[in-house]
Amino acid sequence: RAKAAGGGRYTDFHPQMLAGLVNRLELEADLRLALERGEFEMHYQPTVSLPDSAVTGFEALIRWRHPTRGVVPPQDFIPIAEASGLIVPLGRWALTEACRQAMAWRAQGAEQPFTMAVNVSVRQFDRGDLPGMVGEVLAETGMPASRLCLEMTESVLMSDSAENLAALVRLKALGLRLAIDDFGTGYSSLAYLRRFPVDIIKIDRAFVERLGTPGDDSALAHTIVQLGQSLGLSTVAEGVEEYGQLAALRVMGCNQAQGFYFSRPLPAAQAGRLLLESAAASPAVTG
Ligand code: C2E
Ligand code: MG
Ligand code: MG
Ligand code: MG
Repeated sequence: RAKAAGGGRYTDFHPQMLAGLVNRLELEADLRLALERGEFEMHYQPTVSLPDSAVTGFEALIRWRHPTRGVVPPQDFIPIAEASGLIVPLGRWALTEACRQAMAWRAQGAEQPFTMAVNVSVRQFDRGDLPGMVGEVLAETGMPASRLCLEMTESVLMSDSAENLAALVRLKALGLRLAIDDFGTGYSSLAYLRRFPVDIIKIDRAFVERLGTPGDDSALAHTIVQLGQSLGLSTVAEGVEEYGQLAALRVMGCNQAQGFYFSRPLPAAQAGRLLLESAAASPAVTG
């Protein structure tokens, strides 16, 4: 892998590797303090129903405001939190914050039912008691379980562990909904989907990207929507950025959508305004 660059400027990749390691260790050390320092914040991206584009709820997405680095994206620190075990307290904080916020919006007058979706890592299944933790957070915040959705990637199903299946059954027994995130990027089979008590499949952005363009490649997205329909699962398209993609998803019969076309993830105050406005705009739902 180490290639001799022209002019012999570097023939060795160790300095970069070392820099990468130091960066990672620094982030891990900072991450340990970030929770107590209150550096995390949740943003909320609306999900809409199809074909009418009414707001049905939000996905909670974590942000880290690092004191010197600025906003660190989740891809840069979630893997570190997973490897170090910090994902357990961090995951609890994120779930608590999202549920607390949903209840605050209700208190502020959002009377229509809306869902709060929270991402959980496969490491939260391996370490600690995820169903127990979720039950505690629901009790502490007063959040109705029926309004909570937990998103997890196919890896939770793929590990094929009896423990994960048991945890999912206990989570379902709390009354919440389970979604498979980034669907289509892993290797989960029809058999897994039938065996695990899943309610929703979120079609990965990669399959939504090319929809609605001339000579588009819609076969995969269409197949996933049909798979959902035949298994009685709701389908949500991720990463909708353009009208053409939305139009194609409507024709396919996809149930919900999410993406920059509708809204970017928003700070809580803005998301709350959007929710209260959407209630005013659709009296049929609020009544
Ligand atoms: P995800 O759960 O699949 O979330 C969707 C990601 O796509 C988000 O990135 C969102 O901002 C982005 N996105 C939404 N609409 C569009 C669009 O139209 N176009 C494009 N290009 N991107 C769009 P984000 O917020 O950076 O999160 C990345 C990932 O980090 C998430 O993927 C999720 O796996 C993880 N993550 C975020 N928050 C949490 C959390 O609280 N806990 C855990 N365990 N993981 C989290
Ligand atoms: Mg997600
Ligand atoms: Mg996703
Ligand atoms: Mg993702």
